[in-house]
Amino acid sequence: MIPMKRTAEPEFLISGKQKWTNDFIKTGIINWHNRELLLKDLKAMTKDHCAFCDDVLSPIGSADPEIEHFKPKSKYKDLAFDWENLYPICRHCNGTKNDIFDDLLLRPDELGYQYNNWFRLDPNSFELKPVKAGNKYWNRAETTIRIYGFNKPDKVGRRSFVSAELADNKYLSKDFQPFRFL
Ligand SMILES: [Zn+2]
Repeated sequence: MIPMKRTAEPEFLISGKQKWTNDFIKTGIINWHNRELLLKDLKAMTKDHCAFCDDVLSPIGSADPEIEHFKPKSKYKDLAFDWENLYPICRHCNGTKNDIFDDLLLRPDELGYQYNNWFRLDPNSFELKPVKAGNKYWNRAETTIRIYGFNKPDKVGRRSFVSAELADNKYLSKDFQPFRFL
């Protein structure tokens, strides 16, 4: 999870969200109205990466990327169109987290958040581990790893694969690389 700087709320969301939220509360159906535009703004904040596992997201229009409600819309209906509650996310992380929420979860745009303060990569297993030394709140990292499934076999395999590609200089720039913490 790489730090993300949240940009200003898009105009179309500011003007539409009250009505769209009311519609959602009434019908239970989420209608983004302009999903492509919203995803474009969300993806711009992470340079096209999943805000959580930092894998690279596919182009808009394919199955990935999805829109994450950090606080799930099933329980926090009034936050369904809340800009601060929305993140670009890959199918893996979204599907794993699903409707789960925990106050301990870390956000990539949390004030002062730095990857190295919370996570480290085990170079042998390619699993992400919480940083425990000097970190009284390491269970926040542990909770984030568990709820987003960072150490599920497919993500661990992807990190191992990308590491091998990095060793072969397959990426021209860090910006385009999956898992920028590698
Ligand atoms: Zn992800």
